[in-house]
Amino acid sequence: MNRLRHWIVLWLVTLVTFVGAISWHGYSQAQSSPNANLTLETAGLTLEELGSGVYGLIASTDFPPQNPNAAICNGGIVIGTDGVLVIDPFQNAALANLLFSTVEDLTDQPIRYVLNTHYHFDHTGGNRAAKARGILIVGRGPIREFMIERNKERDPDLTPPNLVLNSESTIWLGDRQVQLAEVEGHSGGTDLVAYVPDAKVLFTGDILFHQRIPYVSDGDIRKWQSSLSQLIANYPDARVLPGHGPITDRRGLESLKGYFDNLERLALSWQQQSLTQAQVLARFAEVPAPYKDYKFHGLYQGNLETAYQQITLGEN
Ligand SMILES: [Zn+2]
Repeated sequence: MNRLRHWIVLWLVTLVTFVGAISWHGYSQAQSSPNANLTLETAGLTLEELGSGVYGLIASTDFPPQNPNAAICNGGIVIGTDGVLVIDPFQNAALANLLFSTVEDLTDQPIRYVLNTHYHFDHTGGNRAAKARGILIVGRGPIREFMIERNKERDPDLTPPNLVLNSESTIWLGDRQVQLAEVEGHSGGTDLVAYVPDAKVLFTGDILFHQRIPYVSDGDIRKWQSSLSQLIANYPDARVLPGHGPITDRRGLESLKGYFDNLERLALSWQQQSLTQAQVLARFAEVPAPYKDYKFHGLYQGNLETAYQQITLGEN
C-alpha cells in the first residue's frame, strides 16, 4: 500500500512539473515573440475555396479584436498557371507571412503580386512582409499618399505599394486573368475590386462589409450606394468575398445597399425633424433590429455621424 501511495505521489509530482514546464515555456515564448505560434486558427481565419485555385481566408473576429494577433479583414489567394496573386495581407507582417505560408501549402508557384484593395491599415500593414520577399505590391490612386499621411501611427514601418494603378487593369497569372476595377465610397479614392472571370469570383475589398456594421467615417455614403448598384449589375452571378464577413453573392451586396438606403431614409427624417447631431446620437444609438446580429457594433455611432453630416446637412 505504501509503495502504491509513493508511486502515485511520484507520478503526480512528475505530472505537475511537466505541465508547469510546458506552460512556462508557452508563456515565455508568448512574451518574447507574440507571433511565434500563429496559425490560421489562432489568427481567427478559415481557409475556404471560392473556385478552382481561388481561395478566401475569412476572419471571424469582432472589432476591435480582443486578440491582437487576430486578422481583422479577409485575405484572398488567386493561383494562376505561372504565379499567384494574394489580396490584402492583413494588419501585420506575421499575419502576412501566415498568408504566404498558406499559399505555399496550396501550390509550388511563386507569389508574384500582393494587391491592396485600399489603403486602410488592416489591409496593408502586412505589406512589409511582401517587400521583404521582393513581391510587387499593387494599389490604386492616392494610396501611397494616404498611407503615409494617415497610417503612420498605427503602422510605423509602413510599406506603400510600388505599383500604383489609375485605371481599370488586368493582371495575368499565366493563362488566368484577374480584372481590377475602380470603385468609390469607402476610402476616398483608393478602393478597387478584383474579379477572376474564369471562376466568377469577386473580391470586393471594403466596398462590401457582410454581416458587419460598415466603417463609413472615411467614406462617402452616396458614392458607396452607387458602387454597390454598379457591382450588383456588373457581377450578378459571382461568388463574392467581402472585405469583412463571410462569403456571399449578390445578395450580400444587396443587403449592404439596403442598409445604406435605410440609413439615408433615417438621415432625411432627421432633416425633416430638424434634429441636432447630439439629439440623433442620443435617440438613435441602438443598432436597428435587422442588424442586431451583425458584428462591429462599435462602428455604428460613426455611421450616424457620417449620415448626419453627409445626408442630413448635405455636407461632403
Ligand atoms: Zn477599410
